[in-house]
Amino acid sequence: MKIDVRRRVFTLNSKCLKCGSTNNLQIDHVYPKSKGGSDILGNLQVLCSKCNIKKGKSSNQIFLNLRRENHGR
Ligand SMILES: [Zn+2]
Repeated sequence: MKIDVRRRVFTLNSKCLKCGSTNNLQIDHVYPKSKGGSDILGNLQVLCSKCNIKKGKSSNQIFLNLRRENHGR
């Protein structure tokens, strides 16, 4: 990821999107890179390390659920 993109994300978001914490902030991909998400600003969000870990454990399940919903329509 480019350094200036990281800087812009942290300028726009100075705290965790989920819990509001300002400690251990990390940049997270809204749509995971492993699933084809890119480094554009709109795909990046700031999460603290705790929320990022929580998201990492649940994102696969969410992704599968979304796929199932889209399939039915
Ligand atoms: Zn958090």
